[in-house]
Amino acid sequence: MLNGKTALVTGSTSGIGLGIAKTLALHGARVMINGFGDVEAALAQVREHDPEAAYHGADMSKPAEIEAMVRACEQQLGSCDILVNNAGIQFVAPVEDFPVERWDAIIAINLSSAFHTMRAALPGMRARNWGRIINVASAHGLVASANKSAYVAAKHGIVGLTKAAALETATTGITVNAICPGWVLTPLVQKQVDARAAAEGVSNEEAKRRLLAEKQPSLQFTTPEELAELAVFLCSPAAQNVRGQAWAVDGGWTAQ
Ligand code: NAD
Repeated sequence: MLNGKTALVTGSTSGIGLGIAKTLALHGARVMINGFGDVEAALAQVREHDPEAAYHGADMSKPAEIEAMVRACEQQLGSCDILVNNAGIQFVAPVEDFPVERWDAIIAINLSSAFHTMRAALPGMRARNWGRIINVASAHGLVASANKSAYVAAKHGIVGLTKAAALETATTGITVNAICPGWVLTPLVQKQVDARAAAEGVSNEEAKRRLLAEKQPSLQFTTPEELAELAVFLCSPAAQNVRGQAWAVDGGWTAQ
């Protein structure tokens, strides 16, 4: 279905981004991944479906590197048709103890990076009159939790950015939407499970159960593959009039 389309997925060496990159490639897109850590392993997984999948190491807190990445995508893959803004980090502390540099990093990586990729990619999308921008927000883009001020602010911000950009492109072939996952068991969440297990003196399994019980009525983690299938739908012709939405996949978290 995505044959002939190209996709840039930020923060796709791990977790949700890797799941989305692999699935877009499986559906025929040519993919550029981005992120840190075990790049070779991530690239090998995506190349199972797109043998020519590319990688760019832009740091999503650095606007000049972000712009260079979008240009590299356009040059190496021929265009940037699908843009998935997924890179994100977390830090947990009450406002008065929140380190200023952690606040700045979360706003830069979880929010401002999407503005920078979008402003770089939109002119090419407009020229081709086709584009799909998918912002990976969070249940925390819709509701808050204590001790996650920067994350909640950034995720609410990216939902707002999604709506504004969707209105600006409403009469074009470009759609802009957000996906709002609840708990997904990725390295980002495993750190919170580990912290909870240590703080409450319980096993890893019990810490996971408590984490889910607190917020996610289904008591099940959402998987990267489930989110990736939603991304594929948003790229499909059937979704051409889905615009400016923040689509929750959260086991009922925000229905409460
Ligand atoms: P993860 O830690 O598994 O992956 C994060 C990715 O971002 C990695 O590829 C990492 O290398 C990359 N990254 C981090 N800082 C970067 C930087 N400065 N420049 C470039 N890349 C960088 O996390 P995940 O859980 O897969 O999270 C992906 C997205 O999903 C994030 O935006 C997160 O907020 C969001 N999200 C996650 C959950 C969850 O439960 N896991 C729930 C809702 C939303």
